[in-house]
Amino acid sequence: MKVLVIGAGGREHAIVWALRRSSRVTDIVCAPGNGGIASVARCIPASPKDLNDLLRVVNDEIPDLTVVGPELPLSLGFVDELQRRELPVFGPTRAAAMLETSKAFAKRFMQRHKVPTANYAVCSTKQEARDSLHLFHLPVVIKADGLASGKGVVICETKREAEDTIAGLFSGKLLGTVETAVVIEECLRGEELSFLVLSDGKHVAPLIPAQDHKRLGEGDTGPNTGGMGVYTTNSMLDGKMREWLVNHIAQPTIDGIAAEDAPFVGVLYCGLMMTARGPMVLEYNTRFGDPETQAILVRLESDLLDALEGCVSGRLSETALHWKSGASACVIAASSGYPGSYTTGHRISGLQEAARVPGVEIFHAGTSLVDGDYLTSGGRVLAVTAAAESLDEALHSAYEAMGKIHFEGMYYRRDIGHRALKTR
Ligand code: AMP
Repeated sequence: MKVLVIGAGGREHAIVWALRRSSRVTDIVCAPGNGGIASVARCIPASPKDLNDLLRVVNDEIPDLTVVGPELPLSLGFVDELQRRELPVFGPTRAAAMLETSKAFAKRFMQRHKVPTANYAVCSTKQEARDSLHLFHLPVVIKADGLASGKGVVICETKREAEDTIAGLFSGKLLGTVETAVVIEECLRGEELSFLVLSDGKHVAPLIPAQDHKRLGEGDTGPNTGGMGVYTTNSMLDGKMREWLVNHIAQPTIDGIAAEDAPFVGVLYCGLMMTARGPMVLEYNTRFGDPETQAILVRLESDLLDALEGCVSGRLSETALHWKSGASACVIAASSGYPGSYTTGHRISGLQEAARVPGVEIFHAGTSLVDGDYLTSGGRVLAVTAAAESLDEALHSAYEAMGKIHFEGMYYRRDIGHRALKTR
């Protein structure tokens, strides 16, 4: 069976790696892929931002299954196009992906379907947003409506900061794109949890939950990023809470979007805050998270292809997911300057030695392979991931491997998972 994976990051490397282990997969193609993916799949240059480019790859390859990694092709209607051609594709249509592509849509959707979330206001002008600020206590959360690669959320401690953020979003100064709407939201407190479920449009199958570290700096300081590390443990969620999250958050979302004529096939990522008032949805993503996927898939024992096909064929309820018990950790090696500007093209050394650390998988996020050398090509460069019996061991292995890797300007957080170790 030939599978096409769309995307170029650590998430896609992990998906390719997991699919490779399926005996039914005979050929894996990735568009565009990256330096690391090129060592395990045939990579075809294509821009995930260009629908025609992606469709050209599909027309040339005629894959038996296409798996979409990033959100951008979803927002362009890539899945709709494949469905029109009756080609099997794992991922939601443009309409279902609005749960991620518009935060205003997502908030109103949650309200319609009684999915717990923070109190909010959607504002379509700067003045309306400024006027709405008095409805909220400080700190207050201001969010860009559209896709912003994890950079469109600002927690404002002062009214001045909130006003500046609103002005920056509407003028385009903050993100480089002019927002036509912003969401103002009550600031929630608690532990964050990434709860991902597979869905075939009707049924849901939860993946193991993960805890992400979005801030750049140690001790959860500094700007938000696409994610600097993540971990999973057996004890993160008990069976009762998992059932609650399925019954009160995941299933109502899948039922709600189906009732709005946009059945959701793919992976629904619920970013949760476990507050004193109960779990609440901070955001939906309509695809695998990055780097959550890396930490989740290293613990998957079942065949990923079976699960993805179960979603596409509407037979997810016949698929059971089995997981390695224990824990996993993923630490991101980033380019100095990320999430702001950074330089690329630096040679990465020590990868082979690092990969020899037991239990470690090194997924490439922003690398290219040039004349046999891996060079940095992005802000997030590597996702050094380890699975083990315990979180301490997983972290130890991931950091041991990280210590063997070097490139100019390499930066990583040294405290991934430490909160979990402290609270035990
Ligand atoms: P989002 O892209 O909506 O998940 O937001 C990115 C990050 O901002 C989340 O992972 C949280 O750490 C933080 N965040 C978003 N919304 C809220 C909120 N209402 N209260 C507190 N923190 C939030």
